[in-house]
Amino acid sequence: MKIHEYQAKDLFSSYGIPVKKYILCHGANEAVTAYDELITDLVVVKAQVLTGGRGKAGGVKLAKNKDETLHHAKNILALTIKDYPVTKIILSESVDIKSEYYVSFIIDRNSKSVVLMMSTEGGMEIEEVAAETPEKIHKFVIDPLIGMPDYLARKYAFVMFDNPAYVNQMAAILQKLYKLFIDTDASLAEINPLVVTGEEELLAVDAKMTFDDNALYRQPDILSLFEPTEDEKVEAYAKEKGFSFVHLDGKIGCMVNGAGLAMATMDMIKLYGGTPANFLDIGGSSNPNKVIDAMKLLLKDPKVKVVLINIFGGITRCDDVASGLLTAFEQLNTDIPVIVRLTGTNEKEGRNMLRGTRFKVAETMGEATRMAVDASK
Ligand code: GDP
Ligand code: MN
Repeated sequence: MKIHEYQAKDLFSSYGIPVKKYILCHGANEAVTAYDELITDLVVVKAQVLTGGRGKAGGVKLAKNKDETLHHAKNILALTIKDYPVTKIILSESVDIKSEYYVSFIIDRNSKSVVLMMSTEGGMEIEEVAAETPEKIHKFVIDPLIGMPDYLARKYAFVMFDNPAYVNQMAAILQKLYKLFIDTDASLAEINPLVVTGEEELLAVDAKMTFDDNALYRQPDILSLFEPTEDEKVEAYAKEKGFSFVHLDGKIGCMVNGAGLAMATMDMIKLYGGTPANFLDIGGSSNPNKVIDAMKLLLKDPKVKVVLINIFGGITRCDDVASGLLTAFEQLNTDIPVIVRLTGTNEKEGRNMLRGTRFKVAETMGEATRMAVDASK
């Protein structure tokens, strides 16, 4: 689970990691009002979206006065950054930045440990640093039984700084960030950039945290920060209905019983030159309500041009499935083409019930897939 910068900064603050005051705003006029509440004239307007690279996308701007604040707030609120529309911004006291550093704790699968990553080359180009000069990124595996005691924090702080004043501040930040990481079952806690200010202070200018989804059951405070994206809302609906669902980007909505058959269906669609809109395993049974819920789920996606229903009737008989489909579609208001492939127990009876209705009936998987791919074009 991801959270916004402002939410991560609240966590930083509560653990004593220094950050500048910010005010969260949902509109440009709110930002103008917020301007008066900050003590500095120079402020920074920042998009709050669940993705990085905001600076490069024009989502971070300095403003010297109210006019500039209004101007940048309006522009930033009109942006969409990597598919995330900006709906809120923060206004923060600007920092006089002398130099930018990178520091993070991350779960590393290779060492099966928490790893501390640090670089003196922090800021917006950190990806390039990692790709071109990886030796400039220092990595230290943290022993879970030792954690981050004073002596280790100082040792790591010295990797970054010579000046004892900075080392002391850095060591404290490392200990606090590590404690926050462990306490919240985080999978990433990142400060990029951590900066040295004109007043010789270390400060987190950005804050990024992600959390282990499997630990959220014991992290109610973290879970309360969850803001689902549109995709995640759809996935939550699917989960609530007991479906196994993954949204993809194609045009053919798939409704299948069984995970293996659902995978095979997607493979066939690709083979015939089409694109699946989703993976959906609705499980067994011919319950019409299930079909209705599944169709509602598929029709939420405006890209879906055709629906392919691929059912293997084993314990559930195909004639039951067919009557479930007929009942379900009496209640559904859609004229989207629906192709049905039924196989297994009583398949002939099932197919006969569907012939001459709104459904297009196929006998084999290949035939059904070809019909779906044609209809999607
Ligand atoms: P990101 O691009 O999404 O990682 O957003 P950041 O919060 O890291 O901001 C990007 C860059 O904007 C930073 O690396 C800084 O160089 C710059 N920046 C952010 N806040 C301030 C500020 O308060 N003052 C100054 N001078 N620059 C800032
Ligand atoms: Mn950043």
